Amino acid sequence: MSSACDMVLLGPPGAGKGAQARRLVAALDLVAIGTGDLLREAVAEGSSVGRSAEAHMRAGGLVPDALIVELVERRLAELEPDTGALFDGFPRTIAQAEALDACLVRLDRRVSHVVALDVGEDEIVARLSRGRFESDGSQLVARTDDRPEIVRERLRTYREQTAPLLGFYAERGLLLRLDGSGEPAALCDEIVAAIGVAGHAS
Ligand code: ADP
Repeated sequence: MSSACDMVLLGPPGAGKGAQARRLVAALDLVAIGTGDLLREAVAEGSSVGRSAEAHMRAGGLVPDALIVELVERRLAELEPDTGALFDGFPRTIAQAEALDACLVRLDRRVSHVVALDVGEDEIVARLSRGRFESDGSQLVARTDDRPEIVRERLRTYREQTAPLLGFYAERGLLLRLDGSGEPAALCDEIVAAIGVAGHAS
């Protein structure tokens, strides 16, 4: 069994997963596998994956599981055995979680930690409608799916298709739920302390 720490970061849109993922990757020496970012790259490149994904993303729905699983499998195959992965925005359905488990088993790895960020829906809508900012205050490129009606659809998609993963991982004893409304640096410290030795699962 690989000693790598493979970690899943869960939470509704606007919970700050992307920003927290960047901190955790640096703190724990992990490689980020963010499906939202991979998809936005594919759309920008105009690849066949991008063309299939674009309409789902614009509507605030999910991109089909098969497409996502293939994208992730390709990234995982490139990882060194001892390098841990941080999954951001993946899995988003039970089927994706099961496919991830199967893929990791084939690579002699496993999900070692799942961190879920809790943020209330009112806070999320307020955050996303203010726009996205970097930690230095500069505004990120506006995302076409940050329009209020699409944000509401993304939240509905999360409740219906992704929230069941909280039970899936809790049953397996892997889930750590944390309040995502606090200060990002303090939250990162809390996660690192909670999961123990940096970079390696026990
Ligand atoms: P957020 O968590 O803020 O919604 P992401 O950047 O993770 O943003 O995802 C943006 C969009 O990309 C989603 O609304 C969805 O359409 C698509 N997407 C990202 N990850 C997945 C996934 N694992 N499965 C299906 N669709 C995905």
